[in-house]
Amino acid sequence: MLITTEEIFEEFEDLDPRDQSQYLLELGYDLPDFKPEEKRDCDLVSGCQSQVWLRASAVDDSDDPAIDIVADSDAQIVRGLITILIAAYSGRRASEIVAYPITDVFDRLNLRQYISPQRRNGLQGMVDRILSLAVELSASAVVMTPTAGSHAEEPTTAATVTSADHRPLDADAVKAQFPVLTQTLEDGLQPVFLDSGASAQKPQCVIDKEREVEEQYFANAYRGRYRFGARIDEELEASRAIIARFINAASPTQIAFTPGTTATLNMIAFGWGRKFVHAGDDIVITMMEHHANFVPWQQLAKERGAHLKFAPLTEDGRIDMERLSEVLTDRTKVLAVSGTSNVLGTNNPLKELARRAHDAGAIIVVDGAQSVPHLPTDVQDLDVDFLVFSGHKVYGPTGVGVLYGKADRLEEADPILFGGHMIDQVGPHESTFAQAPAKFEAGTLPIVQAIALGTAIQWMSDLGIDAIHNHEQKLLEIATARLSQIPGLTIYGPATEHKGAIISFRVDGLHPEDLAIVLDRHAVLTRHGNHCTMPLHQALGVSATTRASFAAYNTEADIESLALAIEEAISTIPRGRDVAADGGVG
Ligand code: PLP
Repeated sequence: MLITTEEIFEEFEDLDPRDQSQYLLELGYDLPDFKPEEKRDCDLVSGCQSQVWLRASAVDDSDDPAIDIVADSDAQIVRGLITILIAAYSGRRASEIVAYPITDVFDRLNLRQYISPQRRNGLQGMVDRILSLAVELSASAVVMTPTAGSHAEEPTTAATVTSADHRPLDADAVKAQFPVLTQTLEDGLQPVFLDSGASAQKPQCVIDKEREVEEQYFANAYRGRYRFGARIDEELEASRAIIARFINAASPTQIAFTPGTTATLNMIAFGWGRKFVHAGDDIVITMMEHHANFVPWQQLAKERGAHLKFAPLTEDGRIDMERLSEVLTDRTKVLAVSGTSNVLGTNNPLKELARRAHDAGAIIVVDGAQSVPHLPTDVQDLDVDFLVFSGHKVYGPTGVGVLYGKADRLEEADPILFGGHMIDQVGPHESTFAQAPAKFEAGTLPIVQAIALGTAIQWMSDLGIDAIHNHEQKLLEIATARLSQIPGLTIYGPATEHKGAIISFRVDGLHPEDLAIVLDRHAVLTRHGNHCTMPLHQALGVSATTRASFAAYNTEADIESLALAIEEAISTIPRGRDVAADGGVG
């Protein structure tokens, strides 16, 4: 006679927390072993770290039969989990199994704490196997898929997205949280940092988090069951859940940690695109794309014999929605666009673009590198297929980024990196792969960075993405008005209502590099060059621009410092050598 759920609860709750994990292990000792011939490949449960064979069968041929479950594993901890499942489900009718709140059992036994996320995937695999049989046998059942012992895997809803919406942002108080911005430099100045479009600075809490991980519990992820490993896994899953909530992904399983935007766009182009884009198909991008969302599609088009097409732009640098159907047709497989242009600042109408792409039968891929840090992003409302962004532009570390995909898109995309952690089964000649997100996380993750990325995103959520956006929009208006008064200064891109917090400009006769030297002398830190958008700069008829990009920590005083430094450059540098051609972007 096997143990019952009530008996398990009683014994478990009597134990010291240190002995509880040992108890879960010991629970499996009495589980009958499968004979070798019973360990059939068709009964293997996918998603498990260890081998698990599970069979669930009806014990009578009624409309709602009782179900018998037998299972075995080569890992003792899994045998413990099997014992819990059998105790909970055994002897119940199919309809009862479907309705049974199995997560309550997992919660009471604290499985979230005692088993790793990958084990939870395996447990979920067993639950799914039992449920699918129960659903099959009980036609009237309504399925509520439970999730294996993890709050981090709970679906997120719009209501759970934290945002301090209407609170105005106190930029001085925000700046005070950034050690790099409050330091006094060797020349006695404080930095006026206006290059957040390249990389944002990090608040103290993100720096502290990286340090905490390194100093207190660093270990590899999804590998060790010792306490450091377990803590790392928890922290990573918590970070994943924070990111999912921030962009309102339906589930944290739709969030994969990647090296950054560039790597992720390559993963999509060659993981999804190589499979679905064929000779003669069209890929549509825009001339305003960063090379990261340009070159992978260009190369994919060449490889597949597809055509790379460019959505027409208006003279002021927006996608010309009225002319979009000239290129977005039933031959289009992918529309790849940036949420916000990193040079023009243009905010693209993603929801409308997603609708138009889907109407044409294409998917939409969004390079969110410049939009996610500044604009509220709700992937479900926008209905985008893939969205990617980088950690270092959202106040987080370098070396980590995010791949979001609709569940179906992630399922159909192939991985482009193969190796450890991303597999399900590996044989001498064939391998099968894990479910997303593990499928896209081959090898060792940037663990510390991925955890600290969650801290950065939580920091943004606490400030409120709406508050950040409103603050930056105010700075954009002020800066646009102030810089427009400077004679000979041209700002590229559309009017402020169509833009994010980026101003790219040139001053007649003044090369951006010469200007940068003077600005730096004033500790006004901007970027100049083509900003990885050569085709756009060619269309603008200039080789380089100066770019000031704003973040939550910038103040009106920063803008005045920029304007004064530009004015000084104009009055001190001999001009006339650098004459920009007058080009539009259309
Ligand atoms: N896309 C846009 C719009 C960008 O601004 C950038 C970086 O500046 C990238 C992609 C590339 O991001 P990463 O260098 O983090 O891969």
